[in-house]
Parts: sequence; structure tokens; C-alpha cells
Amino acid sequence: MKKHFLSVTKPFVHQSLCMVGVLAWIATIEQVVAQSPPGPGVGYTNTPLLPNSQWRVHDKYRPRPTIVKAGEALGQAPSDATILFDGKDLSEWKRDGRKEEAAPWKVGDGFFEAVGGSGSIVTRKEFGDMQLHIEWSAPEVVKGESQGRGNSGVIIMGKYEIQILDSYDNNSYADGQAASIYGQYPPQVNVTKAPGQWNVYDIIFEAPRFDGEKLTKPARSTIFHNGVLVQNAKEHIGQMAHQEVGKYRAHSPTGPILLQDHGNSTRFRNVWARRLRDEVDPWVVMPGAADPKLPGKGKKIVLISGDDEYRSEESLPMLSKILSEQHGYDCVVLFAINPETHTVDPNYQSNIPGLHHLDDADGMIMCLRFRSLPDWQMAHFAKFAMEGKPLIALRTSTHPFNFPGASKSAYKKWAFNSKEWEGGFGQQIIGETWHSHHGKHASQATRGVIPDAAKSSPILKGVSDVFGPSDVYGVVHLPSTATVLLQGQVVNGMKPTDPPLEGPKNNPMMPLAWTKDYQMPDGKAGKLFCTTMGAANDFLNEDLRRLVVNATYWMTGLESKIPDKASATVSDKYIPNNFGFKPATFFTELLIRPIDLVK
Ligand code: MG
Repeated sequence: MKKHFLSVTKPFVHQSLCMVGVLAWIATIEQVVAQSPPGPGVGYTNTPLLPNSQWRVHDKYRPRPTIVKAGEALGQAPSDATILFDGKDLSEWKRDGRKEEAAPWKVGDGFFEAVGGSGSIVTRKEFGDMQLHIEWSAPEVVKGESQGRGNSGVIIMGKYEIQILDSYDNNSYADGQAASIYGQYPPQVNVTKAPGQWNVYDIIFEAPRFDGEKLTKPARSTIFHNGVLVQNAKEHIGQMAHQEVGKYRAHSPTGPILLQDHGNSTRFRNVWARRLRDEVDPWVVMPGAADPKLPGKGKKIVLISGDDEYRSEESLPMLSKILSEQHGYDCVVLFAINPETHTVDPNYQSNIPGLHHLDDADGMIMCLRFRSLPDWQMAHFAKFAMEGKPLIALRTSTHPFNFPGASKSAYKKWAFNSKEWEGGFGQQIIGETWHSHHGKHASQATRGVIPDAAKSSPILKGVSDVFGPSDVYGVVHLPSTATVLLQGQVVNGMKPTDPPLEGPKNNPMMPLAWTKDYQMPDGKAGKLFCTTMGAANDFLNEDLRRLVVNATYWMTGLESKIPDKASATVSDKYIPNNFGFKPATFFTELLIRPIDLVK
């Protein structure tokens, strides 16, 4: 496997909830449903890698840019903008201050107007890096002079002021003119229109970055005033200050936009903002550690997360880290990616980019739940299975696929509820499809009990104390040719010290972990390991982690090299979230990049 650049140093930033106006958002999602995820399309797989990039020149698999619908006319909001004033009301704004108070400014016909002395107003939503469009006009009747004429200001994050001033025939100081970075940089030219006419600002703002209290990258503004470039990627010296040099003080990565009340009746209209997008790597590559003695060296494992309930987007990066750093495997972790945001979204059922990594993989670890992947993605998965390559299936992977009624998928019979291929891929290949919660969900935990017949299995080396908060699954279709390595004991409670549940639920116990052979119709024979445990918080249990490590050795032909007690050390930064479903937009608001999940 090629060594890829991996930007592990990017800080984990939970960006806040500043995505898009609801209507624009719905419009965008409709487009997404209509056109995505796009196929791999035209491109190359044999061109050189770009410097500091995992992408090749003209890379076939590089995600295509998100499709955004432009406004009808220049200056109108595109489909992914957050509309901050729709011409009617100031509901997106509030009065600046600690208290929750409605914006006290006047709304007129298609505009709003500052009311001198009423206070500044701020957006309810917060922004970091953004493109801001705002139109303003100074009062038609000129009153006052210098900084007293039509003064307001766009104060981004409540700290970085782009000046608004009636600079038409106004000899006030240069770094206080309209479109100046107030107190720091005058605009390159003065294109302010006469009082009463509308001015347009298009501001591209990059928020400053801090490491703790230390500034690592200053704020930067590029400004077009009435279509004319007046600030070209100017670095702010510090926060806005009057009669002194502005300084930086560390603050959160997002903040509201403030419009200044400077006592003048400045008017505003057509205000919208767009969050800037970084190209997000849609998967994580973790090359094996350098030590040539590590048994996994030279072998490639693809870990595929994509379940909306058990947080595999958290557990699989952690397992990948153990396998690559402690055992030498080259790993790639894939995620459910929302094509609208290009970020991790387990609720998005029909896109897992990077499945082509399976083509040259030596093994797969999957934790999927009810996915409806497009045919071109499924094709890589199918090829892998047809070649009889080995795999590990975790938790919901007994029911990895769902192709509901109208689906035209070529893989429809792989669905968990298939009648044509009874129970689909889960039942036919893994050994079970979705059946039931055998233990009570979220109130009866699971303990793994090793049956006598399995005690000498190398996969159980160093594994004696398996416990996790997920419940025991009902498993009733497992063929007798499977080898059960663990039985699932239903625990009467959620603590490791809680006793087994009395009664028939534990007599007999359900299979909890097994190995079995598999063969796709007309495919080559292969083998797999499955455990119906595998919630992210189950993996706080060291022996469960070790079980998966051992199973990885087993599936990659290293059975004889399984250590007596394989290393399965987890970082103390691994603090998994509990299982459970999240609202539809939960992840699109968090904007988690795959790399953010490597801890
Ligand atoms: Mg001002």
C-alpha cells in the first residue's frame, strides 16, 4: 500500500450550528437526493500523488464539489447560504448583550434601519470562516461629520470590524473610512456611493486560530466594495480598538456577526452568509507502524463504519489505531459521509466513499447497519466477498443492508429482510440477520462466556473477561457448521458487577461470537468472524478489543502468531458516546471530519 500523507495534526474543532437557512437547506438536500452520491466518474488511478495530499493528479475518487444553486442575479443568496435578513423581519438577530432581547431596530420595506441609542444587534447564529454579503446605505440627509456621518460597522465575531461609514466626500481618517479594517487598514480605494444609495460589501473572512491562549493564525479579510477589491487577504492586527493598537485575545472558533449602533440611521438589506468549506478527506489512512517485526506489516485492513446507533464512527478509528500502531497493519477507515457537507454523518444511509480500498485489502472489519449504498459502491464490497476474502462483522453487521421497496439496487436481495435470498447478506453470509434484542436494550448488559469446546481457540488467547453495555442479540439462524467462541450471558443490570439474569433467557445462551466459512453464490470460499457485541462503549473492555485484534490475526493468516496477550491499548482520549439514535440533522450540524475521530 502506498504511504499517504495523513494530516493528523489538524485540531479537533466542533464547529457550531451555523449551517444554512432551513429552506435553503431543504432545497440543497433535494438536490443531493436527486444527484448524489456521484459515481466515481471520469478520472485517473495511475497518476502521481499531489504533494502533501492523498489525492492523485485528476484522481478518479476525489469527491466532486458539492452542487450549490447560485442566486438568480449576482448578489442574491445561493442555495447554501444562511439568510440573515429576508426583507421582512429581524428574527435572525437579537439585541447585543447578555439578555435575550429582540433586535430593537426598525424594519421598513425590504430593509432595516439602525435606531440610534437602541444598542447594537447580533446574529443568533455564529460563524467562523465565512463569506458575508451585506448591503447598506448611509442616511440621505447628511448630518454630522467625519466619524459621525452614517457610522455603523460589521463587527465579525463581535470583534473584528469592517467599517461602515458615509465616506462619500468625507475627509475622516483613512483607517476609519468605509471598508477599512477599522483602526488598521484603509481600503485600497474609496468606492463609496452617495448618501442614500446602496453600497454592497462582499467579505471573505477567515477566523483567527488559537492554540490555547496563543495565536497561531491571525484573522484575515478580503473585501469587495461595490464589486471592487478593496482589501486583499489582509491580516487583522488584532481586535477592533479605538485610538490604540488592537490586540488578539483567544476566543472560540465561531461567533456572531454584530452590526454596530453608532447613533446613525444606517440602513441594511440583503444580508446572507456562507460557511466556507475545506476539502475534507472522506476517509482516514493509517499506515502500519515502522517496526518491521510487527506481524501485520504489509497487510491492509479496511474498516468500514456506517451505523446510526452504535457509534462505529468512534470505535473503528480506535481499533484501526491499535491495529496499525501496535500490530503494523496498514489500515483505512471509511465512514458514512453526507455528500452535502462532506462530513461524517452516520444517519446518511447511502454513501460510504472509499470502498475501492477493498480491492487490494487483505481483510475487512465492518460495522454497518441498514445501508442502502449505490451499486457502484456495493460493487467493491461484492467483489471482495466473491473473492472469499476474510472479514470481521461487528454488532449490527448481521443486518448491514436495507434496500427499501422502490429501490432499484442490483443488490436488493442482500437486504436484511430479503425473501429471495432469505435474510440477505446477513443471514446467508454472516450467519444471522436482524432478529431481536434478546436482552433488554439499554438495561441488561452482556457478558461473554467461553464454551468448553472453544477454550483452546487461538482467537480467545488472553480473552477471559468480556463485558459490554450493549444487549445480547437474538441469534437463531446460525448454522451448526459455525464455531461459537462466546455465548452471550444476559446481565441483570448495566454494571460489570451485576449478576446474570435468572431464568430461560440464559438457558440456553445466545451465540455472541463465532467464526464460520462463507461462500457467495459462484464465489470463492472465505471465512469470517462475527460478534454481535460492538457498541463503541463495549470497546472500553480490553478483552473485547483483544478479541478483535486476535480475530484480525486469524483472518489474515497469522493465527500462529497470535500473542498470548495481544496488545490492545487504547488512548485515554477514547471516550465513546453511548449508543442511541440522533436527530436527522445532528451530524450535519457537528460537521465532524473523519480525521477528527482519530484520538
Ligand atoms: Mg463603526
